[in-house]
Amino acid sequence: PVPGEHMEFVTREIDIENFPLADGEILVKNQYLSLDPYMRGKMRHPSAKSYSPAFEIGKVLDGRGIGIVVKSNKKDCQVGDYYAGLIGWEEYTHILANAKSGIESLANEITKSNAPKSYFLGILGMPGLSAYVGLNKIGKPKKGETIFITAASGAVGQVVGQIAKIKGLRVIGSAGDDAKIKYLKEELNFDGVFNYKTCNTDEKLRELCPNGIDIYFDNVGGETLETVLNHINIFGRVVACGMISQYNTKTPYGVKNLMQIVGKRLLIQGFIVSDHYQEMGESFQKEMGEWLKQGKLKYKEDIVEGIQNAPEAFVNILTGKNFGKMVIKIC
Ligand code: NDP
Repeated sequence: PVPGEHMEFVTREIDIENFPLADGEILVKNQYLSLDPYMRGKMRHPSAKSYSPAFEIGKVLDGRGIGIVVKSNKKDCQVGDYYAGLIGWEEYTHILANAKSGIESLANEITKSNAPKSYFLGILGMPGLSAYVGLNKIGKPKKGETIFITAASGAVGQVVGQIAKIKGLRVIGSAGDDAKIKYLKEELNFDGVFNYKTCNTDEKLRELCPNGIDIYFDNVGGETLETVLNHINIFGRVVACGMISQYNTKTPYGVKNLMQIVGKRLLIQGFIVSDHYQEMGESFQKEMGEWLKQGKLKYKEDIVEGIQNAPEAFVNILTGKNFGKMVIKIC
């Protein structure tokens, strides 16, 4: 996607006082918008089926967000309440009566919590839950094991690494920038780190994982996945969280050593975080909230101000220019 060519910034006046609301509807002044890699997959032809519907050409893009209710025609929803759910890439969003995004229940948590509100789009929201679900349900970590995490300084990766440290694992991470590498080593105390753009991944994994890898938390797919399959141990687990290296390419990488799955009796399992809100949302909020309060977790955000900067900020996620959870501060 090219900002200005594929995405257009439009200004329109709205009259809040006279804004028409049907029964059950609210008008929200947006504060924070989450930008996430999955949005690239929504920029496709609508006939191509996927877990998240395609964006519609000519319509405002949407994403998870947090805002304040400025007008309400909904029972139990007052002006001034927090709203958490799907919003547009816009300053005000008209929320219809049947709107659902899976994070509505966060509005109460946001009101009660002392954490920065934007954390509910990151460590206490969808990316944090992805880390928690992927690591616990699929990775099944055991003390003393070695985990390797790609895109390790990102919204999901930095949480995976810190939970894994809490659980007594040896944590190895890669990222594509020296400042990110420094952060992982010095701030998050990863046991081993490397910049995959300036180092050879195969050599680094041999050096940093002399006893092999037990869990691979895969955020990138492609050639790195192929390399990891050569270093992973028998009965290793691959948490297939995402494959960002493949999202923006016309020539997908064909992983060549899939026979390793058989010989090493590997478990490779994907997941979609929204399937797990119901089952794990509550324990996640409780446990992560506690760890944060106890100072056991840190969280790096990349906050960009102004909705007009959202297109460029989104493209930056796909080129690795973001450092931490990408959030747009709208006002
Ligand atoms: P990040 O905050 O980590 O941002 C994306 C990062 O990916 C970039 O900063 C960059 O970091 C890295 N990257 C970008 N392009 C490439 C490339 N071509 N090759 C290798 N790395 C690249 O994003 P998130 O933490 O939000 O998401 C991480 C992954 O998790 C994504 O694949 C995403 O789709 C997936 N995800 C899956 C969910 C699920 O339900 N399964 C839910 C949420 C996220 P670097 O400097 O390290 O290159």
